[in-house]
Amino acid sequence: MTQSEHEAWNARNFPGTRQLCEQCGEPTGRCEDDSLYANDDGEIGPLCEECWHTANAQVDAPSGARSAE
Ligand SMILES: [Zn+2]
Repeated sequence: MTQSEHEAWNARNFPGTRQLCEQCGEPTGRCEDDSLYANDDGEIGPLCEECWHTANAQVDAPSGARSAE
């Protein structure tokens, strides 16, 4: 892959600002328009899909309860 081809690949796959997951620090693979935030108020995030599911599971669970593994 040449440098110009690599830049084009980045532009396609990471449009706009590259967004990192607040929880695990991995790229979310999303941009601002379709960011994933947990909580109704969007207080947690942006998140990758995996952490988003985890955060939602914690929000839905009764306080003090452990999620089944
Ligand atoms: Zn994550």
